[in-house]
Amino acid sequence: MGNERVYNFSAGPSMLPLEVLERAGSEITNYQGSGMSVMEMSHRSKVFQKIFDDTQAKFRKLMNVPEGYKVLFLQGGASTQFSMAPLNLIGKTGKADYAVTGNFSNIAYKEAKKYGEINLAASSADKNHTYIPTQDQLKLDPEASYFYYCANNTIYGTEWQYVPETNGVPIVCDMSSDILSRPVDVSKYGIIFAGAQKNMAPAGLTVVIIKEELAGNELPYTPLMMNYKTMIDKDSMYNTPPCWCIYVLGLVLDWLESKGGIHGMEAIKHAKAQMLYDVIDNSKLFTCAVEPGSRSDMNVVFRTGNDELDAKFVKESVEAGFTNLKGHRSVGGMRASIYNAMPTEGVEKLCDFIKAFDQNH
Ligand SMILES: *Cc1c(COP(=O)(O)O)cnc(C)c1O
Repeated sequence: MGNERVYNFSAGPSMLPLEVLERAGSEITNYQGSGMSVMEMSHRSKVFQKIFDDTQAKFRKLMNVPEGYKVLFLQGGASTQFSMAPLNLIGKTGKADYAVTGNFSNIAYKEAKKYGEINLAASSADKNHTYIPTQDQLKLDPEASYFYYCANNTIYGTEWQYVPETNGVPIVCDMSSDILSRPVDVSKYGIIFAGAQKNMAPAGLTVVIIKEELAGNELPYTPLMMNYKTMIDKDSMYNTPPCWCIYVLGLVLDWLESKGGIHGMEAIKHAKAQMLYDVIDNSKLFTCAVEPGSRSDMNVVFRTGNDELDAKFVKESVEAGFTNLKGHRSVGGMRASIYNAMPTEGVEKLCDFIKAFDQNH
């Protein structure tokens, strides 16, 4: 099993560790003697409650989540948080600051405008989102209810290398595409959220880490299911949670622990990304438009500058056993998404492929 698997560079849903898939497969019809699959269990059963509690505890430990914060397992994707964050937080002053550094933060920014006065604290649109603004470039309003940014821009291949200083204004951060890839000082944030399908689990689960004191100030028309308080009070079990995804997340967290936890993963992912950037920077043919210092370790974007050649690269890469290297339709070129589950070997092989293509063209 596993021999015929491809190196899948998809931006999401993306690769899961083979060990995790095999473990889930081995338990798929009868989870640890329960006589049923996790997919068939009541979410109120003792067996599932243990899976839930263990997964939450493992997540808290790996992310070093401090007291006073809740970890929620929600649905609706990361995109639902674009509405949920303003609905729950903006009531404080009616204002919020947004940094727009790509597609997803732009959607979040536009969505938030429905609920209050939104200040564009920074935008990298002037250079087609090829850089991350510096602290000096952030125009922060001390009266903002919160400051919002997206840690890793999945489409544009940029990643914030610092946590903005907001002088006490709570930070809301979309970490969908780089969560669990580097250490995070959770105490610097009000809310961290992430869709699971990039770096954690199958699609259908959204993990939210929320400073508890921020909940309970929602706008009056906030839907029940979009109120953080509803989910905090019922420990994410107001209704049926995404049980299967939570179970797989638990397996992924075990795998992560076996790789040295977050610090182990940080070293591995950084080495993988550096390998790719070095090959691109040293080639005649390929360039990465992202400014050094803003480059993402998760999504590496590159191109030849010639659309036909890019298409040829993508076509030949598929024949060579790599999939999903085509860049996002809004950007073009190529993109290699190299999340935690992408083996180093996959990146090494891609580097060899890029070098050979460079030499032959
Ligand atoms: C994929 C992605 C999203 C959208 O996630 P959904 O779960 O599909 O809503 C949002 N933000 C970032 C940074 C992403 O990479």
